[in-house]
Amino acid sequence: MNAPHALGSIARAGERATSRVRLSFEFFPPKTEAMEESLWAAIRRLEPLAPDFVSVTYGAGGSTRERTHRTVRRILTDTGLKPAAHLTCVGATKAEVDEVIREYWAAGIRHIVALRGDPPEGIGGAYVPPADSYANATELTAAITRIAPFEVMVGVYPEKHPESPSIEHDINVLKAKVDAGASLAISQFFFDVEAFLRFRDKVDAAGITIPLVPGIMPVTNFNGLKKMSSACKTAVPAWLATLFEGLDEDPDTRRLIACSVAAEMCARLEEEGFSTFHFYTLNRADLVYAICRVLGVREKEITP
Ligand code: FAD
Repeated sequence: MNAPHALGSIARAGERATSRVRLSFEFFPPKTEAMEESLWAAIRRLEPLAPDFVSVTYGAGGSTRERTHRTVRRILTDTGLKPAAHLTCVGATKAEVDEVIREYWAAGIRHIVALRGDPPEGIGGAYVPPADSYANATELTAAITRIAPFEVMVGVYPEKHPESPSIEHDINVLKAKVDAGASLAISQFFFDVEAFLRFRDKVDAAGITIPLVPGIMPVTNFNGLKKMSSACKTAVPAWLATLFEGLDEDPDTRRLIACSVAAEMCARLEEEGFSTFHFYTLNRADLVYAICRVLGVREKEITP
């Protein structure tokens, strides 16, 4: 029986026998043994959902160089997943960055998410690149593809990068990144789906044809989100604030809300033709797993 229309897009997604949804998951490199354990529990739980790739972040200035490297190498050797290593270029010389790129290639890594990284004084601060460094992610992308035939993914900002004068400038930057060899763009997290769709329209109008993948962050810590969003200038809609109002001491309800908000966003994006989603997992599997179920994704057999 078809779900009554009043049940909305999530119910319609749940009706499908098979899902055409494709996924990727982002993790950060763990600092302690306990964090390492919970990261690996999350990876194991999400692995059967057969993501296209899983990515591991990299601290600006190379602060997580060893931990990122160790994590992507273990993903490569211990799982059937395709790891994508993030790489930033702030606070590092060209020679240092080139060395990391070569290390990744030698270790068998074939996918890199190329990012500039935030300035040392924090997000939005004016970044003055030192003379012997890559000035931005465009130059970094060119360097990566010059060194070896990696698949390079880059970041985009549907609500504008905080240092950028306009969205139009950002679209030109994305074009330059594609010319430098980028083959996929992952968006910053967002909650204003309509703003994301306007951005998509501008990307299309500019003739950019690489896949644009919405970055979805299920939010359980609303106070933390407000801080992060104000730094990176991501709008937090009033409706989201209302949903979390009065729930500071109620983590269970916050998690249920986080799951339905993210699932509803994905369902709306699916209606607009998106079928690939990048999840900011924060190294936890349960919410992302539930959202993927709602999107119709089911576990696949793993061949070790
Ligand atoms: P860029 O694309 O270099 O943009 C930075 C500024 O330079 C922009 O204002 C842009 O307009 C300008 N610019 C870039 N290229 C040109 C050009 N060719 N001509 C003129 N202007 C140009 N940070 C981390 O430290 N570690 C991570 O692992 C990490 N992962 C991320 C993953 C995703 C999906 C995203 C969206 C962001 C991530 N970040 C990460 C944050 C990111 O490093 C910051 O947002 C940073 O401020 C900008 O990075 P970028 O790669 O977009 O920079």
